[in-house]
Amino acid sequence: MKQSALSEIIKIVGQKNTITATADKESYITEWRGRWRGHCDLVVTPRSTRQVSKILSVCHHAGIAVTPQSGNTGLVGGSVPFGGIVLSMEKMSKIINTDPINFTLTSEAGAKLKNIQIAANKADRLFPLSLASEGSCQIGGNLATNAGGVHVLKYGNARDLVLGLEVVLPNGTIWEGLRGLRKDNSGYDLKQIFLGSEGTLGVITRCVLKIFPKPREIVTAFAAISSPYKIIELYTKIGELAGESLSVFEFMNEVSVSMSASQLKTRYPFSQPFPYFVLLELTATNFDTQLRQMLETILSDAMLNGTILDAVLASSNQQRDEFWRIRDTIPEAQVLEGASIKNDISVPLSKVPDFLSKADYATTKIAPGIRHVSFGHIGDGNIHYNLSQPIKSDANIFIGQRDELINVVNEIVNDLGGSFSAEHGIGTLKIEELNLYRSKEEVNLMKLLKNTLDPKGIMNPGKMF
Ligand code: FAD
Repeated sequence: MKQSALSEIIKIVGQKNTITATADKESYITEWRGRWRGHCDLVVTPRSTRQVSKILSVCHHAGIAVTPQSGNTGLVGGSVPFGGIVLSMEKMSKIINTDPINFTLTSEAGAKLKNIQIAANKADRLFPLSLASEGSCQIGGNLATNAGGVHVLKYGNARDLVLGLEVVLPNGTIWEGLRGLRKDNSGYDLKQIFLGSEGTLGVITRCVLKIFPKPREIVTAFAAISSPYKIIELYTKIGELAGESLSVFEFMNEVSVSMSASQLKTRYPFSQPFPYFVLLELTATNFDTQLRQMLETILSDAMLNGTILDAVLASSNQQRDEFWRIRDTIPEAQVLEGASIKNDISVPLSKVPDFLSKADYATTKIAPGIRHVSFGHIGDGNIHYNLSQPIKSDANIFIGQRDELINVVNEIVNDLGGSFSAEHGIGTLKIEELNLYRSKEEVNLMKLLKNTLDPKGIMNPGKMF
C-alpha cells in the first residue's frame, strides 16, 4: 500500500520534481545547524496547488506522514521529517501580483521573504517582515511559524500582515480564502487557524499580504544605557514623543556586543564599554527633515536627565549598516564562543528588568561564570536570553545543565506572566513546555482542532504535540 502510494505521488509531480537519492535528500532531512537529523522516503517539490492537493489526498488515504518544508531555517526543528514525505514548497515561488492601490501583494507560499520585500519595493511599497534569515526563509514558512522579527512593534507579527490564504487541508481539500479585504466579518476568521500552526493543520499554498507606504526617511541610533530599567524609561519616552515613527527598538547587553566585536570584528561605536545598548530607528513616509532633529533632541534630553549614558546617530548608510551588523551577528559570534543554550522568551515590557535580574541570578547560581548573551526585540518584550558556557569550562558539563537552566528560566517567565516561546514556535523542541505552561483546556482545544482537521495525524507528526 505504502509503496504504491509513493509511486502514485511520484506520478503526480513527475520524476524531475522528486528526490529519492540519499545524498540529495540530506539537506531536507537535516536542521540547518545540524541539531536534528530526520529521515524520509521521498522529497517532493510540487509546482501547483492542484498537485499539493492530489499528494495530500494520497497521503491521507495511505496514512503517509507529510512534513511541509519551506526554507528550513526554523529554530525549533519543525521542518525536520520523521518518516513519510517532505513536501518542499521551493518550486511554488511565484509572486503573483502587487497591487499598490489596494496595498496588497499576492504570492505563492514558496517565494523567499527577500523576494517579496524586493517586489513590494519595486511597487514603491514596503513589506515590513524582516528577519536575519530573510535570504533563505520563505513566506509560507514565515506564516506557518507566525514569524516576528525587528519591525513587530510598528507593523505586528506575520499573522498581522495577512489578508487572505489558500490552504490545502490534510485530506486534499483546497480551502480558497485568498481574499484581499480589510473588512470581512463573514463567519470565523479561518486563516488564523493556519497562521502559526507549524505545518500541523495543512499546507499554505498562496497568500495575500498587506504592503505599506515605503519609508523615505530613516534615522538610526545606537544608545548606551546603564540598566534595563533605564531601557524601559527610554522606550516609554520615545514612544510618547515619536509615536508611530518608532519602528525598531532592539536591545543588546555588553556580553553580546563584545562577542560580536571580538569574534566578527564589528565596529564598536563608543570609546569605552557600557552595560547595555539599544539600536533604535525612527521612520517617516515623507522626506521628514524634522525626524533626525527630533531624535537628536530626545537623546540629548535623555542624556541630560540620566536615562542614557551616550548615543551615536548614524551619519551615513554605511554607519547604519555597521550598527545593524553588531545586532545581526550576535548569534554567529555566540557559536564561535563555544557551547550555548538558547531561550526565546517574552514578558510584559514592564517586567523585563525583573526578568533579567532574576534570570541572571538563578542561572549564575546553577553555572557560576555562565555568560548571559541577552539581546532581542525588547520593544515587544521579547528577549533571546541565550547562555554561553563559562570561559575555559567543559562544554559537555555545561550542556548537561541544559534542562535545569531552561527550566529555571521558564519558571521565572511563567511567574511574570510571559511566554516560553515568543516567536520561534514549538516544533519538536518545546513540546514539553507547551504541556507544562499552557492549561490542559488550551492544549485539549488545540488537539481537538488538530484531530478534526487531520484525523489520521499525517500532518507533521511529532511536532507541537
Ligand atoms: P521552515 O523552517 O521550512 O518551516 C518552519 C515550520 O513551518 C515547520 O514546522 C514547517 O513544517 C512549517 N511550514 C513551512 N512551510 C509551510 C507551508 N507552506 N505550509 C504549512 N506549514 C509550513 N524567527 C523569527 O520569528 N524572528 C526572527 O527574528 C528570526 N531570526 C532568525 C535569524 C536567523 C539567522 C535564523 C536562521 C532564523 C531566524 N528565525 C527567526 C527563525 C526562522 O527563520 C523563522 O521561523 C522562519 O519564519 C521560518 O521560515 P522557513 O521558510 O525557513 O520555514
